[in-house]
Amino acid sequence: PFDVLIVGGGPAGAAAAIYAARKGIRTGVVSDRFGGQVLDTLAIENFVSMKETEGPRFAIALEEHVKHYEVDIMNTQRGAKLVPGKLIEVHTESGAVLKSKSVILATGARWREINVPGEKEYRNHGVAYCPHCDGPLFKGKRVAVVGGGNSGVEAAIDLAGIVKHVTLIEYAGELRADAILQKKLYSLPNVKVITSAQTTEVHGDGKIVNGLSYKDRSSGDTHKLELEGVFVQIGLVPNTEWLKGAVDLSRYGEIEVDVRGQTSVPGVFAAGDVTTVPFKQIVIAVGEGAKASLSAFDYLVRSSVE
Ligand code: FAD
Repeated sequence: PFDVLIVGGGPAGAAAAIYAARKGIRTGVVSDRFGGQVLDTLAIENFVSMKETEGPRFAIALEEHVKHYEVDIMNTQRGAKLVPGKLIEVHTESGAVLKSKSVILATGARWREINVPGEKEYRNHGVAYCPHCDGPLFKGKRVAVVGGGNSGVEAAIDLAGIVKHVTLIEYAGELRADAILQKKLYSLPNVKVITSAQTTEVHGDGKIVNGLSYKDRSSGDTHKLELEGVFVQIGLVPNTEWLKGAVDLSRYGEIEVDVRGQTSVPGVFAAGDVTTVPFKQIVIAVGEGAKASLSAFDYLVRSSVE
């Protein structure tokens, strides 16, 4: 069996693997796509110590760093079931059963998409999902934020300080964000809020975004906005469908962890975007991965004495 088995090969999983391997214990990583969301990212400008890098380059660096140690990497394998016990089992979709004394869950998350024409075509070319990451790329430009929940309204407030103008588009008749956020939003001079609006298309010139169409849900009329960026903020979905019933999840489906990264199951830890820890960022996922790994090591030391 493994001492530590990590499920997920994004920044959190990679950090956990490096920290575990450096303790000289048997470490494995089961991963669908090594690199994770970073593979879908163009420019990364907020990973502390690196002024600028590209997502795919960062992903290669992660994998190379992990491979520098003795880590059993099982790529293109997906965890399908977790079975707690003295030896914890991870069943993969391909039917393998991996056993380990401790497990670190780091399966990340995915942004919910609006699924309209133009969204995929212009992803990273005007269509963005992370205001902390990509906001500064739109300095002085006009953007729309799609989604009027807390994350959309927070994004609009954040972006209003950087960009020239923000149009917030909400499908429902009113914003769903907390009152205090709405108050702040409405106090900003360069933000316009449009409710009862269904985004129907992201337009571009073949290279970059130049507009967005929405349907007014009360009149049925379609309107077009001219702008340079679209931030989609309709939710982040944690990759925990396979863990339902096995570990405690929040109402958003995130894995509940304590300050040490411990889940509701002894010996099972979690890190990164898949957990309840706020702010989904690479530097945070990396730190949380290291922490979960040290907690797993601590758990192994203590349980081997019993
Ligand atoms: P992920 O990166 O999501 O990795 C999860 C891993 O688990 C992947 O390897 C995946 O294949 C695997 N996996 C999923 N399900 C299973 C399963 N059932 N079995 C096995 N493996 C599984 N953050 C920044 O700090 N700066 C940025 O500039 C930035 N830009 C971004 C741009 C975009 C377009 C996106 C989408 C995100 C961006 N982020 C950025 C956020 C950042 O990418 C995430 O916070 C970070 O990748 C989270 O790391 P993670 O390891 O927790 O999860």
